[in-house]
Formats: sequence, structure tokens, C-alpha cells
Amino acid sequence: MTSTHPLRLRILRSGSSGNAIFLETAGTRLIVDVGLPAEVAARELDSIPGAAPITAILLTHEHDDHAKGAGPLSRLVGAPVLANAGTLAAAGDQLNGASTERLTTGVPFRVGSVQVEAFQVPHDATEPVGFVISGNGVSVLIATDLGGVTDEVISRARDADVLILEANYDLRLLSVSPYPWFLKNRILSPTGHLSNDAAARAVVGAASGRLRTVFLVHLSDINNLTPLARDTVQWALEREGIAAIHVEAVRPNGTSPLWQIAP
Ligand SMILES: [Zn+2]
Ligand SMILES: [Zn+2]
Repeated sequence: MTSTHPLRLRILRSGSSGNAIFLETAGTRLIVDVGLPAEVAARELDSIPGAAPITAILLTHEHDDHAKGAGPLSRLVGAPVLANAGTLAAAGDQLNGASTERLTTGVPFRVGSVQVEAFQVPHDATEPVGFVISGNGVSVLIATDLGGVTDEVISRARDADVLILEANYDLRLLSVSPYPWFLKNRILSPTGHLSNDAAARAVVGAASGRLRTVFLVHLSDINNLTPLARDTVQWALEREGIAAIHVEAVRPNGTSPLWQIAP
């Protein structure tokens, strides 16, 4: 039985100091990444009406800003942590005492009433992935962190209604930022993070499909500006004459509104 309830989505935190996404569709409530203290994540969840119980916690990769609160939040809300073998092994102590379930990258599976598939992304972690989460006729693609846009990301984004995409830095701001060069080189590398320009190219590349809404996340608070990230993607779409895609950028270290997206 399909319900007419909208997809509900809130970026609980986004940026280099912590990432977590709440997503509810078809009665299934997921958290993607817990890169903030579990108590903070739990408090953010408490502010969302009807956000409990959480069905499962998904992890994209083991970096602290995505995984450090996953074990404690899992114990706190009584939901299992789902991740691939590489991420579960690399997350190690961060998952102490949590109940974990292994997923396989590239193999779709069900969580509650939604279908989830993890797909590989280029990033300097053990087995980093993005997710496609589909339920109630709405498909959401999450791609963060990634050093470049693969053909797979574009083709999957074309089939999604909603895209949650990294827009980490503006190249000019990064080049003049106080970051040491080893860190700048890590961010710029093909397994680092995604620039506003690369995010814009990805969105334009995916625009011929179902895609209607784009949320830009994981913005650097040093090497980016929220309006600049949004405008870079928006202007790229306008240059191509594409008006049907709505673009929002989430302030670094901030919390987004609770978005509702009708099926
Ligand atoms: Zn990372
Ligand atoms: Zn990250």
C-alpha cells in the first residue's frame, strides 16, 4: 500500500565539522552519517515531529565528520548501523557496542519500506559510497564526499528526483585560503572533495532526467560561501536554459529547514 505522505528531509548538520541527514519516506526513517556527537544528533531529531523511531543509520564512509557519533547514536535510539565491510572495519571503535549490519556496495537492499543501494564514489576512505534511497515513488541520491563526478553519479542523478550533492569549495577561495598546501592538495585531489564548479557540471549533466531538487551540502566554512555555491550551480543551469531544477545550499555547520517533497 502506498501512502501519500511526502518525503521529509532535514540536513541535521553539514560541513567539515560534522555531517548527518534525516530522511523519512513511506514510514521508514533513516539517518545517513552521524559526524556529530550523538546527544546533539538526538536533540536535532527531537525537534522533528514524529522522527522516532529511527529505522536504521547508514554510513557513507568512516571519516570522523561522518561516523564519529554513529555508535553512540545507534545505542541511544536503538537502530542498527548499516555500512559496507570496508567502512565497518575502518570505523572500528566508533561503532563499539552498536548493532551493525553489513551491506554490499552495488547490491540493492530493503530497509523497512524503502530500497537502498550503495554505489562507489572516488574519495580517500576505505570503501566510500553514495546512496540511492527510493520509496513511495520518490528517489533520493546522496553523493558526499567525492573528489570528482563519475559517469555513474551523473546517470544515477538523472534517475533521481532529489540530489544531495557535495559543493565543498570555490577554487578561488581555496587558492587564497589559509589552509596549508598539503591540505589544499588533498581537497583538490581526484579522491578529495567536490568544487562548486564540478557540482554545477554534475547538476547540468543530470538535468535531462527526473531531477527536480538539488541540495548542496558539505560546504567549507573557509573555502566557500553559501550564496556562491548556490549561484554557481543556479547560473550554470540558467546558461543551459534549464529552469525546472530548484537549488538550495545548506550553510556550513548549520541545520536545514525540514523539507517536504511530495511524491
Ligand atoms: Zn570524507
Ligand atoms: Zn566529509
